[in-house]
Amino acid sequence: MQAAQFAVFGHPIKHSLSPPIHQAFARQFGIALEYGTVDVAAEGFHDAVRRFFAGGAVGANVTLPHKAAAFALADERSLAATRAGTANVLTRLGDGRLAAHNTDGAGLLRDITERHRLDPRGRSALLLGAGGAARGVAWNLLDAGVATLTIVNRSPESADALAAAIAEPARAGARHWEDLAALGRYDLIVNATSAGVLGGGLQLPCSLAGPRSLCYDLSYGAAAAHFLAWARTADAGYACDGLGMLVETAADAFELWHGKRPATDPVYAQLRGPDA
Ligand code: NDP
Repeated sequence: MQAAQFAVFGHPIKHSLSPPIHQAFARQFGIALEYGTVDVAAEGFHDAVRRFFAGGAVGANVTLPHKAAAFALADERSLAATRAGTANVLTRLGDGRLAAHNTDGAGLLRDITERHRLDPRGRSALLLGAGGAARGVAWNLLDAGVATLTIVNRSPESADALAAAIAEPARAGARHWEDLAALGRYDLIVNATSAGVLGGGLQLPCSLAGPRSLCYDLSYGAAAAHFLAWARTADAGYACDGLGMLVETAADAFELWHGKRPATDPVYAQLRGPDA
């Protein structure tokens, strides 16, 4: 019998960690699967996805720049995907239709609370960025009980649009990037911008963080280095990158597809390496 087919779609995608993560999860249960990468530009995404699933594939992860397109082409959408307006998981349903889901927010919160053992309840939170990932995590931060959520984005209209979509003005609002130096200190600072991935860094005032602050960068590896260095300079109490979130979001996709919950700690430890 042919092994079930999965893949991650993106552009570029060569360095994706999703294939080894899913293979590691599958080994925990003795499941045989094929998990590949599909490098496709925006204009070819729709056809590539349809071809992939028409060939009998079971599920796909979706990353930059296709998350909004994945949401748009699906036949059914989970609440998390609908709130975000983006999807990072596509699943073929029994009747051949495609279901979209977004696991970013749940993965971030599980990494913060279960791996790093930090409690977001009652914290003041600053969300940097208002792109797909920021939209994927904003509602989960509020659901997890942060006291306030301040959204700041380089293009202010996207931050305004996210705050308007959340529609909880007593807890969530947008501020301008130029105001950052005047905003004071936050307990939780989440960097959901792609500045690090694009090879740049954010210019952030040190007044945002202090010994009680948790600084979390959704990116990982070299892409997170600039933000983590800023957090150290700002004397933040705790700073971490998004590698744990990546493993947690993959675990949610794995459970959707296989009905089994994989252990994430061994896979995280392996990716983190001996210096962790
Ligand atoms: P998008 O392209 O949808 O959004 C990018 C965001 O970054 C926008 O808000 C954009 O602002 C902002 N931005 C880009 N460059 C700069 C800059 N130089 N200065 C300030 N703001 C900037 O990307 P995503 O939201 O999908 O991804 C964001 C990051 O999160 C990526 O690094 C991605 O790898 C990471 N990620 C990690 C995950 C994990 O599991 N660990 C999961 C999902 C994402 P503007 O609107 O002005 O362009």
